Amino acid sequence: MKAMVWVAPNKLEMRDMPVPKPQDGEVVIKVLGCGVCGTDVHIYCGEVPLAKPPNVLGHEIYGEVIEPATGVTAFKKGERVSVDPVVGCGVCQNCQEGKTNLCPRPTIIGYARCGGFAQYTSVPATHLYHTSERLGPKGGILAETLACVLNGYDRLNLKGCRSAMILGAGSVGLLWTELLKHSLTTKVIQTDVIPERGAVAKSLGADAVIDARKPNWQEDVLAIEPSGVDYIIDATGTARAIQASLSLLKSGGTFMIFGVCPEDERITVSPYEMFAKELSIIAAKMPPQTLGRAVRILEAGKINCGAIVTTTMPLSRLAEAIELFKTAKDKHIKIMIDPWID
Ligand SMILES: [Zn+2]
Ligand SMILES: [Zn+2]
Repeated sequence: MKAMVWVAPNKLEMRDMPVPKPQDGEVVIKVLGCGVCGTDVHIYCGEVPLAKPPNVLGHEIYGEVIEPATGVTAFKKGERVSVDPVVGCGVCQNCQEGKTNLCPRPTIIGYARCGGFAQYTSVPATHLYHTSERLGPKGGILAETLACVLNGYDRLNLKGCRSAMILGAGSVGLLWTELLKHSLTTKVIQTDVIPERGAVAKSLGADAVIDARKPNWQEDVLAIEPSGVDYIIDATGTARAIQASLSLLKSGGTFMIFGVCPEDERITVSPYEMFAKELSIIAAKMPPQTLGRAVRILEAGKINCGAIVTTTMPLSRLAEAIELFKTAKDKHIKIMIDPWID
């Protein structure tokens, strides 16, 4: 089979490898699509300590069951599946409470064990979720990102008739918008610095799109919500965006740190302002077994997958796809690798 191996920071190599055999409790799947994510860009550059070369990256995986290990009866050849990549150690307190996303010693698929940038991969049956054939690769790969968003959504403990602002209109920010549009929020405001992405946000139902390139863009938000916004979700992963919007939280409001900021970035908060306005700052990280729910939402047709997964590329162009992730944000939102096309 063809596999794109990450051999060293900033270096990928196409290799011919044997099709994996399922280990105990595992299922070999034929990869029908694998999403390129911001985390892949960081891993590729060597910025993620949990990931060590050589490895096959790719954690947003959709595929078809080829060979379940002896004794695995829940999955049969030919069935379609999405993958929850967060494999915890299984024995720490967090794992035992179902919070695999907080496991201190995880073996994440596509970080520390073989992922989906290959024609086949083998994954634990416990981390597979059935999908209907109708869902297709675009929906199938979005299940992982949506599962992450659902974790954040649960942690927000959203109340109806409130306003929300999402910073950033990439795939994560747009999934937040689509999910919040189906909640009882009154207004969904989205910010971005790329007009093309703002236009997609608008088409997916954002009530207002704010151009965050403007020096005083916060005034545009206050023109819509004079006393501030109830929920702010950062999907940019930059301390600058978080800092610039903190003061827009309404009394009693909650700020959700969701995008992954560089480790050395800092924000400053005023403890007095937090007290006086009774503010909350919370965060959410990876999917703690929320993938099954994500599949159900996608299958219900509530998410416009085609508007988010804009581009499909062959395995041979993975390095280019990673580069485009950084340089062509106006043209591509989510790039999917199909390892079966040339
Ligand atoms: Zn991802
Ligand atoms: Zn654990």
